[in-house]
Amino acid sequence: MSATQTPQSTRPAVVDAVPKQLFVGGAWGPAAEGRTFEVLNPATGEVLAEVADASPADGRRALDAAAAAQPAMAALSPRQRADILTRAFDLLHERIDDLALLMTSEMGKPLAEARGEIVYAAEFFRHFAGEAVRIDGGYQTSPAGDARFLITKQPVGVTLLITPWNFPMAMGTRKLGPAIAAGCASVIKPAPQTPLSMLALIDILREAGMPDGGVNLITCTDAAAVLEPMIRSGLARKLSFTGSTKVGRILLEQCAEKVLRTSMELGGNAPFVVFDDADLDEAVAGAMQAKMRNMGEACTAANRIYVQAGVIEEFGRRLAAKMAELRVGPGTDDGVQVGPLIDQAALTKVSELVRDALDRGASVLTGGEPIDGPGYFFRPTVLSGVPREAKMSSEEIFGPVAPLTPFGDEEEAVALANDTEFGLVSYVFTNDLRRALRMAERIESGMVGLNQGIVSNPAAPFGGVKQSGLGREGGAIGIDEFLETKYIGIAMPS
Ligand code: NAP
Repeated sequence: MSATQTPQSTRPAVVDAVPKQLFVGGAWGPAAEGRTFEVLNPATGEVLAEVADASPADGRRALDAAAAAQPAMAALSPRQRADILTRAFDLLHERIDDLALLMTSEMGKPLAEARGEIVYAAEFFRHFAGEAVRIDGGYQTSPAGDARFLITKQPVGVTLLITPWNFPMAMGTRKLGPAIAAGCASVIKPAPQTPLSMLALIDILREAGMPDGGVNLITCTDAAAVLEPMIRSGLARKLSFTGSTKVGRILLEQCAEKVLRTSMELGGNAPFVVFDDADLDEAVAGAMQAKMRNMGEACTAANRIYVQAGVIEEFGRRLAAKMAELRVGPGTDDGVQVGPLIDQAALTKVSELVRDALDRGASVLTGGEPIDGPGYFFRPTVLSGVPREAKMSSEEIFGPVAPLTPFGDEEEAVALANDTEFGLVSYVFTNDLRRALRMAERIESGMVGLNQGIVSNPAAPFGGVKQSGLGREGGAIGIDEFLETKYIGIAMPS
């Protein structure tokens, strides 16, 4: 591994080209009180941009604009909604180089990963363009034969969308795609660390022909103060949130007052289970993907790696060798595979989790410490012998740290995997088909990767069980989160 290169103090031109204001009712404009906040480059600590800092009054304005646009959104034909999404898909691809540079500058992930995220983000638009024209219904005879049931689907209404910083664009398209496809007007609020990608995305939707007010964007630093009155107003009928379980719980309580529909994509604590009959090279490659995508800052990141006792030493040796080869540095530099963490708080948290595990008896196979700044870099790390009591066994690490723990048999593997309040995703590596299926059925998670380290796919239903969330995004059912089912009873006496 090479340590960080000297970061170049450059602000890409694409940053200047992106609007930095609020987007309300089809127009860009400043926050009411003219306030702004700084967006930083996590690789250098330098200020990239100043972005409008919305007040509660701005939030209300955006919500009113969405409510005013809701009838027009619902009146768009399915084909018109699909066409907007298809045009936006094309624009994302046309501008992929600039958008990747923008994302890397504000979020830190290496350019290749940023490009990958933009392709993934665009796929949600393509997928939901297809779903928009396939919203189905039904016609049925009542059991007594004296009535007919007409079943149709309608947009939920105005939706509030809140996204995190780790996938600054894909978490937006995963919500905006189905909202637009279903005919819902929305207000979206990105995370303050990474608003630029969302600002660029919303400008693309404007260009793609969204009706005024069909999508509105607010950026702000005091999310609680701005969003709570919006949620409690009752003007919105739905909240779709991606973020931590802690914040998800607060938002669920707020939504209860006016009984808003909710989709909650919350935290994870993914177990990654390797049996001794697995192909070890495949398992190591899968662990590298499941752990190191996005520098480990993913809800799907392998957080607890359980390896059967007979192969754990060899697995640890091969994984540590791969991790030690990774090139760490600013994501804009050629050949860099691991960028900085998002901010100082994230670096401190990862460092503390590693220290805690070491204090409780774990040992370092590679890495184990931060790299001196500027920027928030942590060395790719493999720890062995991480005990159940270590904090990282129950908390999301959200960094490039792979903790290894041995297990004896299948029963123990299931028990360890399920020993968490979370249930987003799990990974199992084995060449025994029946064992793979038994594990997939017994592990309590919304998604399972069998002999693969990445499960995210816009055409598949993404989401968790237990305290990892409610609802699914993507797949054929992703659009249902933004639709109400209406039943019309028709008397048909014989
Ligand atoms: P977070 O702290 O929960 O924040 C997520 C978003 O919610 C941000 O835009 C944040 O804005 C906003 N927010 C925070 N408090 C709020 C409040 N009281 N009212 C309204 N909005 C509020 O999470 P994060 O640190 O950004 O993201 C990492 C977390 O997201 C991890 O737990 C990860 O597992 C999870 N995640 C889950 C998925 C999934 O699909 N399940 C995908 C990606 C990430 P502020 O930052 O301004 O507070």
